[in-house]
Amino acid sequence: MTELSQERRLVTSIPGPKSQELMARKVAAVPSGIGVTLPVFVTRAGGGVLEDVDGNSLIDFGSGIAVTSVGNSAEAVVRRATAQLADFTHTCFMVTPYEGYVEVAEQLNELTPGDHEKRTALFNSGAEAVENAVKIARSYTKRTAVVVFDHGYHGRTNLTMALTAKNMPYKEGFGPFAPEVYRVPLAYGYRWLTGAENCAEEAAAQAIDMITKQVGAENVAAIVIEPIAGEGGFIEPAKGFLPKIAEFAKANGIVFVADEIQTGFCRTGQWFACDDEGVVPDLITTAKGIAGGLPLAAVTGRAEIMDAAHAGGLGGTYGGNPVACAAALGAIETMKELDLNARARRIEEVMKGRLHAMQEKFAVIGEVRGRGGMIAVELVEPGTKTPNAAVTAALAKACHAEGLVVLTCGTYGNVLRFLPPLVIGEDLLNEGLDIIEEALTRA
Ligand SMILES: *Cc1c(COP(=O)(O)O)cnc(C)c1O
Repeated sequence: MTELSQERRLVTSIPGPKSQELMARKVAAVPSGIGVTLPVFVTRAGGGVLEDVDGNSLIDFGSGIAVTSVGNSAEAVVRRATAQLADFTHTCFMVTPYEGYVEVAEQLNELTPGDHEKRTALFNSGAEAVENAVKIARSYTKRTAVVVFDHGYHGRTNLTMALTAKNMPYKEGFGPFAPEVYRVPLAYGYRWLTGAENCAEEAAAQAIDMITKQVGAENVAAIVIEPIAGEGGFIEPAKGFLPKIAEFAKANGIVFVADEIQTGFCRTGQWFACDDEGVVPDLITTAKGIAGGLPLAAVTGRAEIMDAAHAGGLGGTYGGNPVACAAALGAIETMKELDLNARARRIEEVMKGRLHAMQEKFAVIGEVRGRGGMIAVELVEPGTKTPNAAVTAALAKACHAEGLVVLTCGTYGNVLRFLPPLVIGEDLLNEGLDIIEEALTRA
């Protein structure tokens, strides 16, 4: 097969006629509850581009939601997964095990924060990992309550819907939700009423007060938090907030769970976003970037906590599928060989440089934030902090029409987020930013 050329190339309008035909088939065959951000049907992808059925080549600032950090069909991922496919596709690790699973567990135990003894269990999706982290924490603590945060996102299963903050579209009409879930404030500096400088201190105090007074710390099995809120709007909790919450958990025998499903594996310029403030979680959930696009997820954590659940209490038919494990080993190999942490930090430098300059020119940009290859702009009504979801949607649409895949997020739907593959070329990165700037000029 010929190399994918790393360029944007538009030969039809977006979506093109073949994509439109396929979209009509999608509408007839797939429920409308499964939404589509940009209805171009992909035939090949790699590096920083996606090629569609009409022969267009689009710049990818989405990575399939922070998944293909090593690029699509990365060489080591394809090589290892292909070899594994030819050897065997499945035995069920709980029936007759295989080395790949153990190797992925060893890698995760080594790469995640902290040098204590660890264990890793593998699953299929992020939501499943979060559910299992809660099961493990409850089993270890013999407590039931789970504390989560404003703007949090943890998945779409029944328990993880309960853990997720935003109603529409994730929860609307899907209740009743799992009980014993309590939500407390997140240190969202940009929107903190008394100002960003007071945010970490005040938000932590409020969260801790709510936990102690409304739930009872002694009833809490786990505190589950994203070190940077992803779907909620790429919100970096104000510095100092995470360590304070982690300390509180430790002092009260609560399992501190970092949900690094979106932030993990070099995405933020470090192996894990918790590394930034030296926070060592008791348990950490991972998925998305872990296996170069194959479905895999994990819970990694302190041996004594992970070993608390009885034999047979954890698992699943497909969890840690051998092909997905081979892909993960290829992805991790790629991250190390190409030093994707350094690449992510370079992406941050380029993107923030350009976006801060745009913020000077365009009053709709309220804030530029994020770390590494996880960067966003929060859009507001000029001169205020009123969320501007309309301009956000219009900007995303304008970018799509020009062949740039961007995503939106945020509790108020007013955040444009950028998650390029960490292997994207700098020329494509800049071309994508040109398209964003052009869209802002016209908005
Ligand atoms: C995507 C995501 C999940 C859910 O992962 P799925 O694989 O979609 O189930 C959970 N937590 C965070 C932080 C995520 O970004």
